[in-house]
Amino acid sequence: MAIKSKVKGKKKHKNKPTSKKYKKYKIEGEKIVSKGRACPRCGPGIFLAQAGNRSYCGKCHFTEFERKD
Ligand SMILES: [Zn+2]
Repeated sequence: MAIKSKVKGKKKHKNKPTSKKYKKYKIEGEKIVSKGRACPRCGPGIFLAQAGNRSYCGKCHFTEFERKD
């Protein structure tokens, strides 16, 4: 019996937004989101972290792209 032990080093550098990291997010200039957006999956109370033009949920890893209209 051959045991395949293929380890894909794919998700090695995974960003884990911790509560500490949230403090690092400083909204400067145009994007001012006082409380952020609530996660549609986790519901109200869990807010998405703003990362560039994306919103990211550190709990369920939901990522939402900002739309510019
Ligand atoms: Zn979530």
